[in-house]
Amino acid sequence: MYMIEMLKNLVAIKSDTESGANEALRYCSTWLTSHDIPHQVIENDGRLMIHAEIGQGSTTIVWNGHVDVVPGKIEQFNPYIEGDRLYGRGTADMKAGVAAMMEAFRRISSLKDQLQQRIVLHIVTDEETGGRKTSGHLVELGHSGDFVICGEPTHLKLSVQSKGIVQINITFLGKAAHGSRPWEGNNAIEASYAFHEKLMTLPFTTASNSYYEYPSINLAKIQAGDRYNVVPDHCEVGYDIRFVPGQKWQDILQQMTDLARSINPLNTVKVRGKSPAITTTEDNSFVQTLARITADVTQKEAILFGQHGAADTRYYAKTGAGAIEFGPSGDDWHGPEEYVVISSVKQYADILTKHALTRNHLNI
Ligand SMILES: [Zn+2]
Repeated sequence: MYMIEMLKNLVAIKSDTESGANEALRYCSTWLTSHDIPHQVIENDGRLMIHAEIGQGSTTIVWNGHVDVVPGKIEQFNPYIEGDRLYGRGTADMKAGVAAMMEAFRRISSLKDQLQQRIVLHIVTDEETGGRKTSGHLVELGHSGDFVICGEPTHLKLSVQSKGIVQINITFLGKAAHGSRPWEGNNAIEASYAFHEKLMTLPFTTASNSYYEYPSINLAKIQAGDRYNVVPDHCEVGYDIRFVPGQKWQDILQQMTDLARSINPLNTVKVRGKSPAITTTEDNSFVQTLARITADVTQKEAILFGQHGAADTRYYAKTGAGAIEFGPSGDDWHGPEEYVVISSVKQYADILTKHALTRNHLNI
């Protein structure tokens, strides 16, 4: 129960603000110090993060966990246990992952001589607001690895892939006219509507792989028109597209640009932001070892799947690391009844420890 007590203390720190998340991070630092675990506390733009490493060898595994949480009701920062569940904001997402990582790190610290690889522990404080200032910063400092586990709640299943993101803004141009004589104008809102219908028939929309049936397309923003008696000559729309690993955002952009210009050659298409897909494959040797150990510990077949959202994995994946999301069981994260399954937290710490002590080989 020792680890669960530490987790409860961590959950009780209201870390839904920058200062709260830093306070939770300092708690982790104090805990590591009390167990004689050397580590660095690094600051970037007001946000704190921890970097610790142990062991040696030609391969490096990074464990990454965040202690910031999404806002919760005040009573959610008063964690309580009911049966095999620990309730509270951030229990599942993802202070349980952090607590288990710290505990596993403590265990391997006392078994240093058996380690045949480096294990790096990263505890960060801005995942819920994008992760750029802490996980992004750690990667910029050169602290990546061959394999990265982000301890997001996944029910002890291995999320080896996640979709990439491309956000695209399109400006449709038309011709203004008086609203009583619309046939003399060219309605830009109607042009965007025609575009949206045809968009769904473009070749990129049917891409799939063994984890995803298709990319997702969200028409997220639209801005046009300011008067009833005017035909709008201008309409701006914004799409958020989550593409399947293996797809190229450039192809998506090209297909959308061709379609927009076929409606009016003056329409413009711009990329507002993008993030690569996570494309770790099941033949990654770290994944294979982890799946085997997970099956051993849980006495169930290990399950590999693809996540729809993105996490801090993306920063590490940019360096070529195999990056996965893998964490304990729970439910209702970001909701009012968030909990983590206590037995799964213990299994998770066991799995991480065994995986760290098992020799892995790089796929060449
Ligand atoms: Zn999370």
